[in-house]
Amino acid sequence: MTPKKKTITKAKSSRTQKIVPKKTTKKVVKKTTAKKVVVKTESKEITASDIRVSKIKTPSLLRGMKDVLPKDQYFWKKMYHAAEDVCDAYGYGYIETPVLEDASLFIRSIGRGTDVVDKEMYVFEDKDGSKVAMRPEFTAGIARSFVGHGMTSLPQPVKVWCWGQLFRHDRPQAGRYRQFHQFGCENFGVHDPAIDAETIGVAYNFLLDLGINTNIHINSIGTLEDRQNYIVELVGYLRTKRSYLCEKCRKRISKNPLRVLDCKGESCKAVIEEAPQIIDWLSEKSKNYFVKVLEYLDEMEVPYVLKPTLVRGLDYYTETVYEIYTEESEEGAQDALGGGGRYDMLIEELGGQPTPACGFGIGLERVIMVWRKLIEEGKIEQEEVLPKIFFAQLGEQARMKTLRIIENLRQEGIIVGHNLGKTVLKVQLELADKQKCAYCLILGQKEVQDKTIIIRDMESGIQEIVDQKKLKTELDKKIKKMAV
Ligand code: AMP
Repeated sequence: MTPKKKTITKAKSSRTQKIVPKKTTKKVVKKTTAKKVVVKTESKEITASDIRVSKIKTPSLLRGMKDVLPKDQYFWKKMYHAAEDVCDAYGYGYIETPVLEDASLFIRSIGRGTDVVDKEMYVFEDKDGSKVAMRPEFTAGIARSFVGHGMTSLPQPVKVWCWGQLFRHDRPQAGRYRQFHQFGCENFGVHDPAIDAETIGVAYNFLLDLGINTNIHINSIGTLEDRQNYIVELVGYLRTKRSYLCEKCRKRISKNPLRVLDCKGESCKAVIEEAPQIIDWLSEKSKNYFVKVLEYLDEMEVPYVLKPTLVRGLDYYTETVYEIYTEESEEGAQDALGGGGRYDMLIEELGGQPTPACGFGIGLERVIMVWRKLIEEGKIEQEEVLPKIFFAQLGEQARMKTLRIIENLRQEGIIVGHNLGKTVLKVQLELADKQKCAYCLILGQKEVQDKTIIIRDMESGIQEIVDQKKLKTELDKKIKKMAV
C-alpha cells in the first residue's frame, strides 16, 4: 500500500511545502489478557512509543536522587555565576572530567578503608568486563587529567574549577543524597601557605557573595610521616578505650583509625576528647606551615576555628585540612557546606611527577538548604529575576508576529515575558501582573496593520500607542525609569 502523502500549503507563501510522514508501517494490534494493548509493527524500526499503548505506571525517582526543577533555577544559576565570577577573578580555568572513571582511580587516591570507597561508591562492570565507578568526588579525576594532559609542564600553579554531579550510595536524608552537586577548585604545583589560603579564600568568598557567612574549621595533619607517627600513637590509645567505642569505631581502629575522630556518637566523643592530638605530632616545618596559613587567613579576614580532631578521612590529604560551616552551625554539627585541604602526594601516587596541590569541594544542595533558610528568616533577600515587561498578543495575526518582535527585542538586549499558550488578553494581563511586570506590550489585529504596539503601564493602566520602529527607544526610556 502506498502511503498517503500529506500536503500542507503555507498561507501567503509561494513555496509549497510537502510533509511526508517518515515511515508508515502496517500495525497489528493484539489484545493481551491483562487488557494491555500491545502494538507490534512489521517494520524493523521499532520506536519506544510503538511498543505499548497500555497505561503503565510512571517509573519513580530512584532513592536519594533529585530532579533540579525550573522553580529552583534562581539558586542554581546564581550559584553558578558566583562560582564563575570568583574563579575568573582568581584565575581558575573551568575543567570537566567524565562522570565515569576507572574504579581503581578512586580506590588508589581516596583509599580503601574509607566509607566513600568501601561503601558508597557506585562501582560496576562495564561491557568489556572492566571495573568502572561513577565519580564520588572531583579531585581524583582532575588529578588524573592533570597527569594525563601533561599539565606539569605548564606554568605553575595550574588552577582549575569544576562543577557537576557526584554519586555516593549514602543513606538518604535531608542534605544527603545519592546524586548531588559540588563546586570545587584545585590548585596544582606550588607548596606554599599562600596557596592554601587562596583556595580557602575562594571557597569562603563564593559563599559570602551569595550572602552566606561561614566559618572555616581548620587543622593540620602534617606530612605523611607525621601522620604515620601519630596513627601509631592514636591506635595505641584507642585500643585501651576499645570497650567505650561504638561498633563502627572498633572496626575503624585497624581499618582507618583517623575516622574514629569524626564519630559523633556520645560514648566515642568522650574518648575522642581525651585522645592524643595530631597537632602535637607535627614536625616544626609542618607547624610553621600551618601557622603561616592562619596568618594569611587573618590578613584576608576569613574567620576560622581551630579543630584539633578534624582530620578528613581520605588518604590523600597532607598538611592543611578544613571544613566550611555556616556561622550558626552548632558544635559537633555534621552539616558542613564543604571541605578541602592540601594533597601533596596524590599526583605522584597516580604516576605523575611529585606535584603539591590543594583544593576544596562545596556541596551545592547544602548551600541551597542554608540559603533558603536565610531567605525565610529574612536574612537574605531573594532578588526578583522575572522579566519586567510582558508581551500580550490578541488574534491570529498578532500571534504570528509575536516571536519575531520578542526576538528583535532580545537582540536589542530587552527581555520580555510571554505566554503563547494563552489567547485571551485578560488572562495575559493577569500573568503580567502576577509576574510583577511594570509594563505590558499589547499587539492586536489593528496594531499589526498600523505597525504600532500598545505599551500599558501595569500600575496606572494608562496605555500609549507607539510606532513599532520606536518600540526599543520607548522601552529603553521606561527601563531607565524602572532602574531609578
Ligand atoms: P566531601 O567530599 O565528603 O568532603 O564533601 C564535601 C561536601 O559535599 C560536603 O560538605 C557536603 O556539602 C557535600 N556532600 C557530601 N556528600 C553529600 C551527599 N551525599 N549529599 C549531598 N551533599 C553531599
